[in-house]
Amino acid sequence: MYLRGSMKINDKGNLEVGGIEAGDLARQFGTPLYVLDEAGLRENCRDFRDAFASYGDTLVIYASKTLSCLSVYRIIEEEGLGLDIVSGGELYTALKAGFNMEKVYFHGNNKSRDEMVLAVKSGLGRIVVDNLYELDLLEEVCAELNKTQSIMLRITPGVEAHTHEFIKTGQLDSKFGFTLSNGQAMAAIKAALEKKHLHVKGLHCHIGSQIFEMSSYSNTAEIMMNVLAEVKERFHIEFEELNVGGGFGIFYAAGDDPKDPRAWAQAVMDTVKEKARELNLRQPKIIVEPGRAVSGPAGLTLYTVGSIKEIPGIRKYVAVDGGMTDNLRPALYNAKYTAVLADNAVREKTEIVSIAGKCCESGDMLIWDIVLPVLESGDLIAVFATGAYNYSMASNYNKLPRPAMVLVNEGAADVIIERETYDDLIRNEILLERLASK
Ligand SMILES: *Cc1c(COP(=O)(O)O)cnc(C)c1O
Repeated sequence: MYLRGSMKINDKGNLEVGGIEAGDLARQFGTPLYVLDEAGLRENCRDFRDAFASYGDTLVIYASKTLSCLSVYRIIEEEGLGLDIVSGGELYTALKAGFNMEKVYFHGNNKSRDEMVLAVKSGLGRIVVDNLYELDLLEEVCAELNKTQSIMLRITPGVEAHTHEFIKTGQLDSKFGFTLSNGQAMAAIKAALEKKHLHVKGLHCHIGSQIFEMSSYSNTAEIMMNVLAEVKERFHIEFEELNVGGGFGIFYAAGDDPKDPRAWAQAVMDTVKEKARELNLRQPKIIVEPGRAVSGPAGLTLYTVGSIKEIPGIRKYVAVDGGMTDNLRPALYNAKYTAVLADNAVREKTEIVSIAGKCCESGDMLIWDIVLPVLESGDLIAVFATGAYNYSMASNYNKLPRPAMVLVNEGAADVIIERETYDDLIRNEILLERLASK
């Protein structure tokens, strides 16, 4: 389940990715090291693109908050996906990567005026407006720039996805979007249609993340199609597009049961087609925005084991040279991961250990209670499915430099993100002259 794309345990019992042994990658680039499997990343893109394309006019956009960097944006574009961005920084990265701006969608619940100006000037495809403050501000920005901007409106459909509290977004009590059940959504649509410089292309929703139940998606599609019908009835307009969000679940650890992207496409598209018939609506162009399912399984992180602490009868802590600074998710939402001994993975004797990070926080644990061969200091371990929300959430807590990321493919490994140096860590700091030592 965790070996995806080109990842495999080779004849020697060593982990291999992109045709290169993990041990060789660690020796060449050091650890901790983010490794991104190009073949796996491209395969994930194609799986989603093809699954939806078979139903007609659809667009898969990559939720790039999961892993945002220049080379990844190029690969995403080459594979025919659009891009979902959530900040001026991600927009800037897309511009620098030469991404086709027509296929960029700008999300977020509090876009600043500067971000809007940059977006409108760049000719970005859609701005997904989250609230009335944004709606008014965007109209003002477009009027000043004398431009028209295509937008979508983010609706909170009131769907409870069965997932962690912090990654649920579709429920009534959410910071995101216009609430459907209390009439705010319809009022917002009316207000948006009256804006001179905004062209409402359609509606967006996103119910949460790490979703395994396809019925959550068909329920959402049904609700949103009903909204489109109500819009038609009230405002005599048929929206062209419906974006049903992302959140497609992946395998991190035992218990995760990811579905085939085709199951997602079927759940959404069958519902959309059926509802379009029933409600006498034109079938809108369907947009989906998987994030973790594109980048997550294509990434792994290599760590070197350092200190090992055994508390007899209680627990054995195995500390690695990274932690919450390169993978915040276990500390942030108790996320689970799977790991293997990457070099000499055939070593047998097994025991239960807990993998600790090196930060000065008791909560800095990567994996609790995992069965691994008996580890020794200097061993190399690989943690899987770290392509999403790892680098993009990385910090310099404890002044740890962020790891490098290498893109591996068919025996070649290229650095796409350089390891930070100690100088990088103090780059923006200013030692006031009056405080400098004489
Ligand atoms: C985070 C997010 C996504 C992607 O979620 P994943 O769980 O990574 O697939 C898609 N759309 C929106 C609006 C999001 O906020």
